[in-house]
Amino acid sequence: MRTLLILVDGMRPDALKDIKTAQDIIAKSSCAMDAQTVIPSVTLPCHMSLFHSVDPSRHGTTTNTYMPQVRPIRGLCEVLLANKKRSAFFYNWEEIRDLSRPNSLAFSYFCKGRDIGYDKANDMVSAAAIDYLNKDYIDFAFIYMGYTDAAGHGSGWMSSTYMEAIENSWRNINAVVNSLPEDYTVIITADHGGHDRTHGTELPEDMTIPIIIKGEGFEAGKVIENASIKDIAPTIAKLLGAEADEEWEGRSLI
Ligand SMILES: [Zn+2]
Repeated sequence: MRTLLILVDGMRPDALKDIKTAQDIIAKSSCAMDAQTVIPSVTLPCHMSLFHSVDPSRHGTTTNTYMPQVRPIRGLCEVLLANKKRSAFFYNWEEIRDLSRPNSLAFSYFCKGRDIGYDKANDMVSAAAIDYLNKDYIDFAFIYMGYTDAAGHGSGWMSSTYMEAIENSWRNINAVVNSLPEDYTVIITADHGGHDRTHGTELPEDMTIPIIIKGEGFEAGKVIENASIKDIAPTIAKLLGAEADEEWEGRSLI
């Protein structure tokens, strides 16, 4: 059993009903379409909460500038490493590098979306993941796609450009999922939503995220209630047979 986590930055769940390429995976998955992220609904704080299963007030990163933890909590990759599990990251926003400690990853791939354009950078992280995950055994793979958030800030959340960015993301998600060995459980989520050309507030549009899980034990069509971004690390740890850190606040969704 292996796990792939795909995070589409700024992807609102209410955008997905109009995305044709998303429907096949959604129909085969257990889904929380009203899961909640943490406050502030900002990219790096939310990612830190995803990987450390505590609120930003506890891990200390409250803006997109990483803050070393004063009272460190082990993150998902550190817990997995302690259980001899191998992790790999594929990402196009540089700050993602701080979600794991040095030497916790077996492999990482980064291309800079800000320089090459996030649409192309989404294609590049997906291609890198397809290539690498088919030739090396990775227990936990994380793919980060930044295009949707860039489109939201540039043209507005729910604008046609934003919807095209979600289409781009799902084209890549389908390509990756269809190429992977069958024993991967796939979790697709977002760090936050957005409204107008921004996010970071406590509005439902910013706070509500999808959590879509396809794999053994996750019944197709099942609705997952009361899910939080903090539940993702405990879920992945459990799927991989690792014990959650005792300070983690989230619960396993299986
Ligand atoms: Zn943003």
